[in-house]
Amino acid sequence: MLRTLLAFSLAIQPALAADLPDLGEVSRQYFSDQQEEALGRAIMRDVYADPRYLDDPEIESYLNQLGYKLVSVSSRNQREFVFFVVDDPTINAFAMPGGNIGVHTGLLLAAQNESELASVIAHEISHVTQDHIARQVAAQQQAYWPSMAALALALLASRSNPNIAGAAIASTQAYSMQNQLDYSREFEREADRLGYEMLTRADYDPRGMSSFFNRLQRASRFYDSNAPAYLRTHPLTSDRIADMESRSESAPYHQVQDSLDFQLVRARLRAQENSPADAVVAARNTLKDKRYSNETAAQYALVTALLRARQFKEAEIEVQKILSGPNSGNPMIQQLSANTALAAGNQVLALQRYQTGSNAYPGYRPLQYGYISALLAAGRSSEALGVVNKQLDLYPLDRRLWQLAAQTHDQLGQHLLSHSAQAEAAALSGNLIAAIEQISLGIKAGDGSFHEMSAAEARRREWQAIEKAQRKD
Ligand SMILES: [Zn+2]
Repeated sequence: MLRTLLAFSLAIQPALAADLPDLGEVSRQYFSDQQEEALGRAIMRDVYADPRYLDDPEIESYLNQLGYKLVSVSSRNQREFVFFVVDDPTINAFAMPGGNIGVHTGLLLAAQNESELASVIAHEISHVTQDHIARQVAAQQQAYWPSMAALALALLASRSNPNIAGAAIASTQAYSMQNQLDYSREFEREADRLGYEMLTRADYDPRGMSSFFNRLQRASRFYDSNAPAYLRTHPLTSDRIADMESRSESAPYHQVQDSLDFQLVRARLRAQENSPADAVVAARNTLKDKRYSNETAAQYALVTALLRARQFKEAEIEVQKILSGPNSGNPMIQQLSANTALAAGNQVLALQRYQTGSNAYPGYRPLQYGYISALLAAGRSSEALGVVNKQLDLYPLDRRLWQLAAQTHDQLGQHLLSHSAQAEAAALSGNLIAAIEQISLGIKAGDGSFHEMSAAEARRREWQAIEKAQRKD
């Protein structure tokens, strides 16, 4: 406790430090749990509305799996987290209030093994569990923040992409504040130490941390004053790297294999680069020259590229090869094979593959999304409703499932239920105004039972009350 208290005192202005009694209270003083939650929601609304948000359930699912593997071994508060992907080639990852952690595609591709990726994410998780963001914000004058929305924008801009967001936030005065939100060196050390602990407990290679940050530091020499957002917000000192190295030197050496999912996610991202035709050529050459660390991943990249190029027959041939190989049971492979059939217009085969896949991996939601969509495409809406409702019982906070529920009810001609589901999806994306609008449309349609109507009205009152309270804040 004393160590952390000292760390914090060093991080803020001396004048402020003298009045601050206790860490927990300091962050809670300006930042209640409810406020942090509201701020988290405002941030995710901005994230989902950002064209750079990568709406890819499979990559997001992988990231959440990796993130939760680390969270589950954390010795600190085990709260809810949301891991999301930003389609941006720069190497970056950032923690936001409310346990929201963003990872750039550039980081996913630059990491040379899974332990390197895990080390950056473990570091970000530690910024969240240690309340660093709240403490950083609390250390500023409260009057600085014109509104929750401006703070949300300033945080996102400072962490994610200052260049693009700069123009948008100039009018909110947030631009001048973002530099004050960079992490202090003490916070960095704390996040390194706790991140290292998580990394070893989750059985990743602890050397991943020093090797990745070392490379980042070498690369940064080329950036000069225009340093990437990650290095600006997470000051990387030679002390930090020396600490990481001395920690991992004492660890017993053991080789950690990358998961197949890690390889497939990277293959998926690489296959999205350049034009479809170029991506196909690149993927074919990789396979031909055997320039891969994993053959299945290289084949996966080729199928993804072929689907982009709309070469469905060739894609199916390649899928068959993967399915007869050793990794046919992987859920991402199952999803790829079903997607290939669906893209080729073979609904029967697609449904069969989705069904097999979702039975084998009931917890892998991308397969469930695909199955529901395929049922809808085949006009089998009652069956789709059965699957979507079963999934919603299990995962009532999944906005993608609510979107699919809205489509299903729409296909069944149920307007109130369709708008209500759309409203739930909007609320879960942090957009209460859109949620209230949607549910009002549903109530106006008036085609629900008495019970459904009163439930919708109660839900609307609930959202209106929250929205009103947030406006006051
Ligand atoms: Zn950091």
